Amino acid sequence: MAETPLFERIALIGIGLIGSSIARVVKRDGLAGHLVVCTRSDETLAKARALELGDSYTTDPAAAATGADLVVIAAPLGAYVAIAEAIGPVLRAGAIVTDVGSTKCSAIRDIQPHLAEGVHLVPGHPVAGTEHSGPEAGFDTLFEGRYCILTPPPGTDEAAVERVTELWRRAGSMVDRMDPEHHDQVLAITSHLPHLIAYTIVGTATELEEHLQQEVIKYSASGFRDFTRIAASDPVMWRDVFLKNRDAVLEVLARFSEDLTALQRAIRHGQGDLLEDHFTRTRAIRRDVIELHQAGTFKATEPEEE
Ligand code: NAP
Repeated sequence: MAETPLFERIALIGIGLIGSSIARVVKRDGLAGHLVVCTRSDETLAKARALELGDSYTTDPAAAATGADLVVIAAPLGAYVAIAEAIGPVLRAGAIVTDVGSTKCSAIRDIQPHLAEGVHLVPGHPVAGTEHSGPEAGFDTLFEGRYCILTPPPGTDEAAVERVTELWRRAGSMVDRMDPEHHDQVLAITSHLPHLIAYTIVGTATELEEHLQQEVIKYSASGFRDFTRIAASDPVMWRDVFLKNRDAVLEVLARFSEDLTALQRAIRHGQGDLLEDHFTRTRAIRRDVIELHQAGTFKATEPEEE
């Protein structure tokens, strides 16, 4: 006999890379009695329908959230306030709202004020992704072996946290809990700064004279290629990440600039020992990442971690 679904009705608001990957897990494992898919445009909704990602489809977040015991917000961070304003009034007591956004202080700030008492907010961030967007980009193994960080505000109902944790476990993730400020600081260095650097390097290269640009592409396997993959990430998502995690990003950027200046000085003054010491220390970090099994590539269209 089939297991009882984890949730009666899940509303997925946003059906891009992350939302559609969650939908695929929910459908595959029968985690919802009913899965309603909600997105902003008719075009994306039609794609989601063609891919049979849900049981019903709407462009109205309030209609999607009505009667849901779990709402998953999987839209860009800049859309959160409007979505929370729309769903807040229709949510039933005991409903859980979670999200997948890349910054957590802003998620709480933008959603919490619109939720009535008795509705539980359990913010989350799957540390998994690719540079691809849209409902076709998702796949059901995206979260396997990856961390998902939950940042429930103090006093959040433990049973609600446990139910969201179970959803991510079923998706194959290891679930960690963190304070939202701490999450935003950690991700500023592990994810947001690397993306900013990639956007900068690729931007610099595209501004070089044309003949040099062709050589840049031709010899990209020498290091540049990895930056181009990261810099191909969704522009709207990343615009919002930097605007929403401004303080933490500016803080790590200041540290990074100081360290870059130190390396620049070492190169100028021919301080080879200093450079070698530095590169030896950073090499060890790569070994740690491999040991934690966070270095691998996935199947599908060669996506890698965010
Ligand atoms: P995506 O593939 O671009 O899909 C975004 C979805 O949100 C689409 O369904 C889109 O609808 C909808 N949307 C866009 N703007 C909206 C608006 N103003 N109002 C309502 N809905 C809107 O994005 P994604 O990569 O799945 O990212 C979604 C969330 O996951 C973001 O908050 C991001 O920070 C987080 N995240 C992303 C990654 C990653 O690697 N991509 C990893 C971890 C977490 P339409 O197409 O109909 O406009």
